Amino acid sequence: MILVFCELKDGQIRKPSAEALSEGRRLADASGKKLGALFAGASCAGSAEAAKYGADVILTAEGASLASYSSDAFAQLVADAVKAKGATVLLAAATAMGKDVAPRAAARMGAGYASDVTGLAMVDGKLQAVRPVYAGKAFATTTFTSAVQVATTRPNVFALAEKAGAGAAEALAAPAGSFKSIVKEILAKAGGKVDLTEANVIVSGGRGMKDGANFKILEDLADALGGVVGASRAAVDAGWGLPHSMQVGQTGKVVSPTLYIACGISGAIQHIAGMSGSKFIVAINKDPEAPIFKLASYGIVGDLFEVVPELTKAAQAMGIGKG
Ligand SMILES: Cc1cc2nc3c(=O)[nH]c(=O)nc-3n(C[C@H](O)[C@H](O)[C@H](O)COP(=O)(O)OP(=O)(O)OC[C@H]3O[C@@H](n4cnc5c(N)ncnc54)[C@H](O)[C@@H]3O)c2cc1C
Repeated sequence: MILVFCELKDGQIRKPSAEALSEGRRLADASGKKLGALFAGASCAGSAEAAKYGADVILTAEGASLASYSSDAFAQLVADAVKAKGATVLLAAATAMGKDVAPRAAARMGAGYASDVTGLAMVDGKLQAVRPVYAGKAFATTTFTSAVQVATTRPNVFALAEKAGAGAAEALAAPAGSFKSIVKEILAKAGGKVDLTEANVIVSGGRGMKDGANFKILEDLADALGGVVGASRAAVDAGWGLPHSMQVGQTGKVVSPTLYIACGISGAIQHIAGMSGSKFIVAINKDPEAPIFKLASYGIVGDLFEVVPELTKAAQAMGIGKG
């Protein structure tokens, strides 16, 4: 079996999990295996949707130890489920939760782990994973020597594919016992915008923004395009009041939207490490020699304080963000 650890949000499968499931279906078809989807939490209502992405079996675990995310309890559940089902491949989306639970489960199982992969294949019944290395400058193909093979899939890279699966439901017991870490409280961020790692459109600002208050023009453009705002480390570190959660790059978030608009960002290697997987990159910079232009699909040489509002007006006129 190929087992995919899936996350739900507001009773729906999160998009990165649906992408991992779609890829899991493709790998299962290529290797004649069954596809299982595993859900855990206070409630797994909505998990039946996994059948839409080809899940043959939908495993759910609900219980006190899983009510809030706990690294220990979730890792134990996932490792136990892999064992119980005899799964040879475990996938999870490379979200904050997936990146936490998958390597922990792998360690419990003595399994090999490939993080944040951008390509997967089954070759002679074994998993092959492609992952970016050297800050995205090169790609490494990884094979596994362990019986169980674990990988996390980079969001927005694997295509969503709907294919009806049997979706047989099976309940698993929540792990019991005491765990080293307990989550006491989760404080949700106000605003409710999509996370950067899941966003389809990102408008990012760098040191060229000159002040945190100027990010308002990026928010206006992001709203007009149905996107969210990110930042370079220089902008986050400048003391402009921008949270680290906005930072894109090697020590920030790795994003892969369809459209990434870099405003006043020079294109340092550590920034590029976080956004080079974007489908289309638009760079706005007043320096025609800025390295970001080497990577950009489209470049605008100009003052961002003039260019960005013009783009916003054009996007609003076309009603792009509404569709
Ligand atoms: C270990 C390590 C980890 C790091 N991790 C990260 C990371 O995760 N993310 C990250 O981003 N960086 C990271 N950095 C920092 C990185 O090296 C760069 O310093 C940083 O990315 C630069 O940010 P910037 O492009 O906004 O600023 P700058 O390099 O200063 O570029 C500002 C740009 O704005 C342009 N500009 C100025 N005014 C305007 C205007 N009015 N209109 C248009 N353009 C204008 C300039 O021409 C310039 O190109 C890391 C560094 C190290 C050493």
